[in-house]
Parts: sequence; structure tokens; C-alpha cells
Amino acid sequence: MRLIFLAPLIVVLASPLVAQVEPQWQVHDTLRPRPRVVSVAALPSDAIVLFDGKDLSAWRSAPGGAAPWRVRDGFVEVVPRSGDIETARSFGDVQMHIEWATPAEVTAAGQDRGNSGVFMMGLYELQILDSYQNRTYADGQAAAIYGQHPPLVNVSRPPGEWQTYDIVFRRPRFDPTGALTSPARMTVFHNGVLVQNDVELHGATAHMRRAVYTAHADRLPIRLQDHDNRTRFRNIWVREIE
Ligand code: MG
Repeated sequence: MRLIFLAPLIVVLASPLVAQVEPQWQVHDTLRPRPRVVSVAALPSDAIVLFDGKDLSAWRSAPGGAAPWRVRDGFVEVVPRSGDIETARSFGDVQMHIEWATPAEVTAAGQDRGNSGVFMMGLYELQILDSYQNRTYADGQAAAIYGQHPPLVNVSRPPGEWQTYDIVFRRPRFDPTGALTSPARMTVFHNGVLVQNDVELHGATAHMRRAVYTAHADRLPIRLQDHDNRTRFRNIWVREIE
């Protein structure tokens, strides 16, 4: 009791003695704006839900028209060769949560096992693949930034099981002439385990060649890949980073 009573007094007495860590704020500055309150029930209260298991109203076909993938039993499944789907809204810096499952029945190998992908801004692919006891090139397995950064570890669950990605994406910045001033960065947790630690992206995802940057808008749709495999998704949401 006595210590609790004295605590505010100690803070007041100590404050003139502590050094500044940031120029505009004293340490423990009571005038510093506090972070806004976010509550978490099933998902953060400020999340933008992109798929809740019911419909694809937040999505459209990337080539144009309604999103053609199949919704049933609380998930959406790729319809092979129907094309990629993308969000109707555009996003820049985001935190994203997405759950996915590759087909339970394994009928192919390497890059043809449950291949899909999350393309941030429609350009930067976080690979989705059945990488459970499935040998392929390191920068193309599940949780790789495709063609650039293999994941730190392989935490893939067996085919058919639900898996999660939690992504922090920082978009690239360009100056008015279109020159790159700051590359895109990504942090990824796969099934809760850190697999990409604030990595710097080399450019837009490319196949069999080096990635390069081309200037683009500050906000673009997020795209999910149709790679001819019946991969499933559920519980997709983003939070815009201020
Ligand atoms: Mg892919």
C-alpha cells in the first residue's frame, strides 16, 4: 500500500533528471499522445474484413467482373483457370491476416502442390504452397517472398490442414520522378512463427528473372493467385497502418 501511494511522487521527482530519448518528448511525458484503444474479440475492432466465410463481395476478378471462385462451408476455393481475384478496395501499408489450406489429396509435386499466393498491392508475392515434405527451390516454397527471400524456417502443416499468415507490409516509396526512395518491406508469421523478419524486397515479383521496381500508386488492390490448384482461404482481414 505504501509503495503504491508513493509511486506518483517518485515519478514527479525523477522526471527533471531523465534524459530526452526523442527531441519532442520527455521520458514518460504525460502530454505525449497515447495510442488509440483497439479491442480484440474474434478480430481487432479496426480490422477491415475481406472475407468472413460468406461471400466475395469485397473481391472481384483481376481481369474484370465478379470474383469467380467458389464459396462454401465458410471458405473460398480457387476455381482453376478462372483467374486471380483482387480486393475491390486498394491498400498501401497494412497488417494482414489470412488462413489457407492446400488440397488434402496430393496429386502433384514441387510447384504444382497447392500453389497460390498473396500479392501485396497486386505486385509482391508471398508464396502459398504445400511445402510439407515437398521439395522445391527455397525461394519458391511456402512463406517465401517469391524469387527473393526463402522463409527463415519451414513450419508447414500437412496438406489439407488450415494454416495462417500474419503479414506486415510496408509499401515502396517513389519520388515524383518515379525513382525509388524506399523499398517495400515485409514481416511474416507462418502459423505464428516468424518466417520473414522485416526483409527488404528487390522489386515486383517476377518468374525466372530478377525483380525490379516500377513506380506505382500508393494504394493498389491485394490479389490472390489462381495457379491451377484448389487451394482454400478463410478469415481474411487487414488493418491499415497509419
Ligand atoms: Mg504462387
